[in-house]
Amino acid sequence: MGLKKKDILLVFVILAIAFLAYYLHDLLGAAAAGTVTVKVDGVIEGVYSLGEDQEIIINKGSNCLVIKNGKADMTAADCPDKLCVNQKAISKNHESIICLPNKVVVEVDSGENGKLDAVAN
Ligand SMILES: [Zn+2]
Repeated sequence: MGLKKKDILLVFVILAIAFLAYYLHDLLGAAAAGTVTVKVDGVIEGVYSLGEDQEIIINKGSNCLVIKNGKADMTAADCPDKLCVNQKAISKNHESIICLPNKVVVEVDSGENGKLDAVAN
């Protein structure tokens, strides 16, 4: 006796729900991911939502930050060392990308969701 049509359907439904739950968690995760604060020379230039895909030009174009899938990544910079560009994307509370030559600091602030994220991760 193999699987009945009904059983196969049930498995499919369970898989679909699992997939949906995972996808929803991802979506909600991005929404609860908080914000990134961009500072230039110690002055806040802007605060951006990690839940929204966007490209941010920092310091009149010296650095370019891309937010995608709840993560912030420095994709371009005119600094000589390119250390900031080589840093991995940040998404967790208090993670940061720093560009020393341009005095640019990008820091994640998950706010009150930070604790929840820490448990979930
Ligand atoms: Zn840099």
